[in-house]
Amino acid sequence: MKDNNKLTNTLYVIGIAGIIHFIYYLALDGDWKLIVPFVVLASFAQLVPIVLSGSAAFVGNGIINLFLLIEYGIGASLIAIISGLLTFFVVYSPNKRKINWFRFICNIGMFYISVTISYYATFYIPDPYRILHAILCYTVYELSSVGFNWAIERSLKIPNRRFQFKSFIKLLLPFFLGMTMFLKIIMQQLYFNQLVEIAFAIIILMIINRYTNTLNKQNRLLEESNQRYKSLFEQNPDLVFTLDNEHRLTSANPMLETILGYKESEVLDKPFDQALHILELDRFQEKIMQMQSGIPQHFPLTIYHKNGMLREFDITSGPTIVDNVVVGGYGIAKDRTADKEAERIIHRMAYFDSVTGLPNRAYFYKKLSELIQTAEETGGGFGMLYLDLDQFKNINDTQGHLSGDNLLVQVSRRLLETVQSASFISRLGGDEFTVLLSHVKGPEDCNRVARMIRQALSSPFVLNGQDVYITTSIGISLFPDSGTDSQTLVKNADAAMYKAKDSGGDSYCLYSAELQKAIEDRLTLQTNLRKALEKKEFKLVYQPQLDLNAGAIIGVEALIRWDSPELGEVPPTRFIPEAERCMLIIPIGEWVLREACRQSVEWQKLGYPPISMSVNLSSVQFQGDDIVNTVRTVLYETGLSPRYLELEITEGILLQNTNRTMRILRELKDLGVRISIDDFGIGYSSLSYLKHFPFDTLKIDRSFIQEMMREQKDRLIIGTLIHLAHNLEMKVVAEGVETEEQMESLTSWSCDLAQGYFISRPLSPSHLEEGLWINKSMLA
Ligand code: C2E
Ligand code: MG
Ligand code: MG
Repeated sequence: MKDNNKLTNTLYVIGIAGIIHFIYYLALDGDWKLIVPFVVLASFAQLVPIVLSGSAAFVGNGIINLFLLIEYGIGASLIAIISGLLTFFVVYSPNKRKINWFRFICNIGMFYISVTISYYATFYIPDPYRILHAILCYTVYELSSVGFNWAIERSLKIPNRRFQFKSFIKLLLPFFLGMTMFLKIIMQQLYFNQLVEIAFAIIILMIINRYTNTLNKQNRLLEESNQRYKSLFEQNPDLVFTLDNEHRLTSANPMLETILGYKESEVLDKPFDQALHILELDRFQEKIMQMQSGIPQHFPLTIYHKNGMLREFDITSGPTIVDNVVVGGYGIAKDRTADKEAERIIHRMAYFDSVTGLPNRAYFYKKLSELIQTAEETGGGFGMLYLDLDQFKNINDTQGHLSGDNLLVQVSRRLLETVQSASFISRLGGDEFTVLLSHVKGPEDCNRVARMIRQALSSPFVLNGQDVYITTSIGISLFPDSGTDSQTLVKNADAAMYKAKDSGGDSYCLYSAELQKAIEDRLTLQTNLRKALEKKEFKLVYQPQLDLNAGAIIGVEALIRWDSPELGEVPPTRFIPEAERCMLIIPIGEWVLREACRQSVEWQKLGYPPISMSVNLSSVQFQGDDIVNTVRTVLYETGLSPRYLELEITEGILLQNTNRTMRILRELKDLGVRISIDDFGIGYSSLSYLKHFPFDTLKIDRSFIQEMMREQKDRLIIGTLIHLAHNLEMKVVAEGVETEEQMESLTSWSCDLAQGYFISRPLSPSHLEEGLWINKSMLA
């Protein structure tokens, strides 16, 4: 209601008239003793709603007004009206000091009209009906004024003072009855009658009050539960919505806009599937149907935000039941997008490899268990490929870890491109990958995939702008032939992979019974190897080296022999790789070095001319830092002069961490020992090694020597190698010289030394002493 309109302006003028009437009354008839208590009473009556129910205020005010009106006239009743109103405006105005005087005076105007009407309406009516009339008129006035008051009160934003017609009627009843009784009492002439009536009135008022209080309480409870429901709906941090039986959205809380970007008006009364863009619509509809049949549902659902982004929810829904009939349903959609994202990140971290993005070891084992379970249930089979890159360690060591990682990423990409999408590729760690092939019919399917992988990895990888070639060794196991549980399948695929690697790498191998046998043999070998040192089963034989210029034996190579009581004579080519695998080569190698040095010193002590002692070192002995110390200690303990010791290393050692190897080799050289490169030409020879490493001797592998008489190319290689070695100030030893022809050719090419069966087989110390120094047969 607007403050300034015709009605309010009229009321305002009447209000002014009322005030003038009041002042006139005060000036002429005003009895101050009477006025002061009523001012207090009227003010108190206005304060009553704060502490008591609203009806008490109505009754209180009405009684005072009517009493003053009937007993003392219009002017006197204005005492209660003005003082009561003033209290009301002061108490309920939002800003106590800023009273809206216009409205205040309008109110006085309104009351002025009502008391005037009441007064004149009853003026001509004789007792006792006069009073009843006054009450009636006043009640009619209150009724009409309530609407006005309500508007004012609303504009004053008074808490809990909202007008409600029902409660108003409930208020009116005690008001009307209460006033009737009270006025009836004060009109009684007899004192006793008055007391009886008072007692009666109090009882009636108490009953009424109780009745209205209960009603008010119920109302309040209803209102409160309404508010609670509203809060639950509106303040809910989740999206809450209701649907009718036709799946139309009938309401949605403000979270609709916050979470999905839609205004309520955009979606209301539209079928859910048209209002919102749901990803799994079929599932949603199915769940809604079930919900309509009365079963509450809980399910995940993905809904598009208005801006097109996906949001994931957990929906809890149930039927809305009115009078035992399902009239629709409700849903509470908990936004789980952030949680799901966090879950995905955790899952990714737990199950995926951070370098390649492929599933990791944990995921691999999970998948493997699933495949085993399915295969067991369906009676099917599957295959596993276990890959290990052959040169990864070298690339990682020489080009750095970043390049290594880069290579792994490129390899994983090629694997993904090569292998069918139904397969499961994972990285177990390091340079090991696995491929699980579900639905394989037999070993041939796995072999085919292995061939495809080898083919895919055969083209060069680009690392730091350079082409890098790698190969892979693949072991294959099949369910159920190679194993029926995860551990066995992995173990056997790994064993097959090692087999592939042992045969030179760049190949694949299917796990088989023979392989199993080989593994068992290897295990037996390992077990026996462990005891061999302790039981002194090793011995050394020495193969002489002939100086081709002087025609004299100037050195020997110490070669290990193992005569095992269980296994018989085991060639070093068989047990050394195994000893390297289980690291036993470190104590064995140390024993060889010590024994060879000891023997050399013993010969010298026996008066034989000092000769060079060559000892083979395994690449594994180079992995620790101890080799330099070991050599130093052994030389010290045996008393051999370092210049008589030559250490033979193979090219494989040079492929390991180049800088470290270089450092170790220099430290060894600093001890005064000589270093030779063994089996030159068969490994990953790079002529540049010769330039960078301080070798004293180059041993040409016996395969070249054996072929030299038949192959022109081998002759060329040998000639070139001798020439190159000499240019680099190295001596050359030809290994495996078996014929006179070979020796003559080598002599003619200025090869420095020769070693081979033609000169002598490896000999035990006593045989060597005999042949070399006692009979001097080897010099003949
Ligand atoms: P290697 O260092 O190249 O040793 C030379 C191998 O060639 C020896 O085999 C020797 O018996 C053989 N050989 C010598 N002359 C001829 C010949 O004219 N014709 C043929 N066909 N073969 C000949 P062996 O003793 O079986 O040793 C094989 C390999 O085992 C050695 O190759 C060496 O790499 C390794 N090895 C032997 N003893 C030790 C050792 O104490 N420590 C380490 N780390 N490795 C050893
Ligand atoms: Mg050797
Ligand atoms: Mg050799």
